[in-house]
Amino acid sequence: MTSARTRQRLIERLRQGGVSDQRVLDAVAAVPRHQFVDEAMASRAYEDTALPIGRGQTISQPLVVATMTQALLADGPLETVLEIGTGSGYQAAVLAQLVPQVFTVERIDELSRQARRRFRNLKIRNIRAKQADGGEGWAQNAPYDGVMVTAAADHVPQALFDQVAPGGVLVAPVGPVGGVQRLLKFSRRAAGFRQRDLGAVVFVPLLSGLD
Ligand code: SAH
Repeated sequence: MTSARTRQRLIERLRQGGVSDQRVLDAVAAVPRHQFVDEAMASRAYEDTALPIGRGQTISQPLVVATMTQALLADGPLETVLEIGTGSGYQAAVLAQLVPQVFTVERIDELSRQARRRFRNLKIRNIRAKQADGGEGWAQNAPYDGVMVTAAADHVPQALFDQVAPGGVLVAPVGPVGGVQRLLKFSRRAAGFRQRDLGAVVFVPLLSGLD
């Protein structure tokens, strides 16, 4: 189930889905997704589908992870990235293959702890993770060259825009919670944010407070 062939099939599927950045494909190929889901789900880890990770949350579909990662990297090299919604830790682990320093926040303590354990076991050392309400970002280390929101809201919290560095990028699913959102990419220019629509996505909601 975790054979090279199974993983290669997923990479082909991502290519067909429009992921052309070889760095992103290599990063997905390098991260063992089966280690970011429960053992009971491991046999499905290399299918291009979201899977439950407990507490009503999901590990995102690989095509969505790869598309968001590609969008974040497309404007030039990034030194630091902030992810909102650690979940399983999978998206952060993919980013950690490509970016020197990744920060990630998760509001559910249990998921945050579990993700940190996974990073430790996999010896991924360039991720700093904490439990926090991501709607406030992580001001201490701001600004970030990239901000990636992996939970849906009808608007992006202002604090997250504020923490994007000049020339930086923010990618987020924006739209009705419980419905279909648009994946939006905001690029910070001198005059403000330029916005691009990258297509339809479905994410679990961005909630406030800790759990
Ligand atoms: N990136 C994750 C999947 C995200 S699922 C992965 O690769 O597995 C969305 C996650 O966002 C959930 O774990 C949810 O608890 C979390 N979340 C929702 N609202 C949040 C908030 N305000 N701050 C931080 N995390 C939040």
